[in-house]
Amino acid sequence: MAEKRPMHPASSDPVFPSQNRRDFLKTSLAAAAPLLFQPLDAAEPANSSPWHRRAIRWGQTNISEKDPVQYDLKWWRTYWKRTRIQGVIINAGGIVAYYPSALPLQYRAQFLKDRDLYGEVAKAAHDDGLVVLARMDSNRVHEDFFQAHPDWMARDASGQPYRAGDLYVTCINSDYYEKFIPDVLREIIQRSRPEGFADNSWSGLGRGSICYCANCSKKFQEKIGHELPRGKNWDDPIYQQWIKWNYARRTEVWDLNNRVTQEAGGPHCLWIGMNSGSVTGQSQSFRDMKEICARAEMLLLDHQARSDSGGFQENGQTGKLIHGLLGWEKLAPESMAMYQAGRPTFRKAAKPEPEARLWVLEGFAGGIQPWWHHVGAYQEDFRQFRTIEPLNRWHEANQRYLVDRQPVANVGVLWSQDNTDFFGRDNPGELVDQPFHGISQALIRARIPFVPVHADHLIRELPKLALLILPNVGALSDAHCATIKNFARSGGGLIATGETSLFTERGAARSDFALADLFGVRHPAGWAVPNYSARVRSTSDSAHSYFRLSPELRGGHDGPKDGDEPKSGGPRHAVLDGFDDTDILPFGGALKPLVVGQDAVVPLTFIPSFPVYPPETSWMRTPRTDIPGLVLRDVPGQGRVAYFSADLDRRYGRDNLPDHARLLANAVRWAARDSFPLTVSGPGLIDCHLYEQPGRLILHLINLTNAAAWRAPMEDLIAIGPFLIRVKLPKQARGGGARFLVSGGRIRPDVKNGWAEIPLRVILDHEVVVIES
Ligand SMILES: [Zn+2]
Repeated sequence: MAEKRPMHPASSDPVFPSQNRRDFLKTSLAAAAPLLFQPLDAAEPANSSPWHRRAIRWGQTNISEKDPVQYDLKWWRTYWKRTRIQGVIINAGGIVAYYPSALPLQYRAQFLKDRDLYGEVAKAAHDDGLVVLARMDSNRVHEDFFQAHPDWMARDASGQPYRAGDLYVTCINSDYYEKFIPDVLREIIQRSRPEGFADNSWSGLGRGSICYCANCSKKFQEKIGHELPRGKNWDDPIYQQWIKWNYARRTEVWDLNNRVTQEAGGPHCLWIGMNSGSVTGQSQSFRDMKEICARAEMLLLDHQARSDSGGFQENGQTGKLIHGLLGWEKLAPESMAMYQAGRPTFRKAAKPEPEARLWVLEGFAGGIQPWWHHVGAYQEDFRQFRTIEPLNRWHEANQRYLVDRQPVANVGVLWSQDNTDFFGRDNPGELVDQPFHGISQALIRARIPFVPVHADHLIRELPKLALLILPNVGALSDAHCATIKNFARSGGGLIATGETSLFTERGAARSDFALADLFGVRHPAGWAVPNYSARVRSTSDSAHSYFRLSPELRGGHDGPKDGDEPKSGGPRHAVLDGFDDTDILPFGGALKPLVVGQDAVVPLTFIPSFPVYPPETSWMRTPRTDIPGLVLRDVPGQGRVAYFSADLDRRYGRDNLPDHARLLANAVRWAARDSFPLTVSGPGLIDCHLYEQPGRLILHLINLTNAAAWRAPMEDLIAIGPFLIRVKLPKQARGGGARFLVSGGRIRPDVKNGWAEIPLRVILDHEVVVIES
């Protein structure tokens, strides 16, 4: 079916980027003509909504101590307008004050003198109709403050204050948080009436250090009835309680700050801090994502750039993970660096436009709102001001499709912060994040939409799912395991890997998998969980090991023979689709024997490691074992279960071997009985996110096909296509029309058996297809 409008409308049209991004930027920025924006419709927040539902696009000039003498407010106001933002985040107080505070201990910016820079910028923003968040940084203080309140500082076991450079770290249990910060918040509200507060660093000392100050000793004794732990010991129940006690205190500070701002500034004057998009990052700061999201009306995300291993797609996943906790009706703007953030960091140099752009677009796909971020009011690299404007103009024109929508996905990937802490301990990157990342990446590669599911939300989320994936989720409570068993026994598909369910929610080893019956395996008699350091060592091992596929087919293939080839044992299982031309696959890890149940099938067995060098030694010493790499159960009336004893998810997250991705995706298709709501055929690596709003489906397709997909920065966009999209329509929907929000145009899809078929010729950076019912 042909499209009825050209793919690339006139370049003077600001809403639709042309294929050549550079030409588009030149035209749209140089023209500066009056721009046409689509009128708001009923789906968009009305002006009467509170600011946290209304202010969708944000901006932040993160000012330096020099800026009081070089802040060109007139220019920044034009930038606010051009970039279509509705809210600004302005540095106010805490570590550095940008207003003449009456609180003598609040340090003033070096070049501030008596100027009220924060107040001037806040007034200008209010005059321009913008929402103002006063930015705090409540974490550390200067020498004079330390001298005045030595009892407010965090202290190590020998009583010495914790330092950060020249500054002193304040204790989360001290009156710095109970009294001083509330006074600062009240003063700022009284002076400038901001709509709310952000806080760059609000949660005190991180998990790596124990504070032994008098406040902490006393409060821990009162609450737990014990002295503070002497040091880190994950097996010690007192240390575990110290971890949970620290989380609870950060949540208490969140509530305290909100009580203060709402009392002083009214019910909508919210203190919303700032949070990392990384669960591991949050754990290291004792920030309980579930508790925070349960309280927040809006979440401010500090997640400015991709990692090479996570890719741009990390941002789309973060959006889904956060909204899974926060709710999809709420907003989650994310600080997006327009400068070279990440590795390497250059605060004043522009990030290459395609690199910044793809990160922003993945955020849009995950339900994240844009928030530009520049460091310093004075800049000399103007390229950083060219990136966000066209993105935000597109966002404004299409915002009705980009907020307040529900994901359409029947695959859930389980996670919990307890698992990050008590199973991941000091290596959450390898034990928790890599498996999660590997399975997510395999799903993205297979174009299967999925949602992260928090363990405490299983009962709420499982009815929406055909398949639940447990990527090495070691720590699971008995209650979580019981819920998962019920799900699988009543027809839900399940995939689990590695050490899933071997530990309680506090990380205590069980005698065997809590989900052993479902997996169809148990450990042999006399086996015990290896200790933590042995397990961590084994995750980082890289052995020269393989899998043997069963049944073996090489007897019937054209290739060298030794005469002992096994007779073919018939057709292979669906999880081995695409591997007909091989009897082995690379693995890389080590496996131990397991006892496999009668009703289970083992399509992969382990071939132990043998030498790589010199090549003369590189032959299989033990070509065959009965140690399972993958165990499948398909009991009539129950859900299909695939248990990978091999850590294939982690391996794929780390090694990026396509065979591992294919195996994982095959298992997903088999266990979910191929019941996905979307297929996309066509070339390349694209990330697909499908959503639903009343009367329509919304599909994001992000083009990640690029030489720089796994190494930042991306410096050019490469168009790919064509594609054929097939989307399952909701019941009663007829699939009346499909609109392309990036390339423009509208078509009438072919509708067959409740599926809409939509051709798409090309994707440069992204496309968003709206399928009206
Ligand atoms: Zn303390």
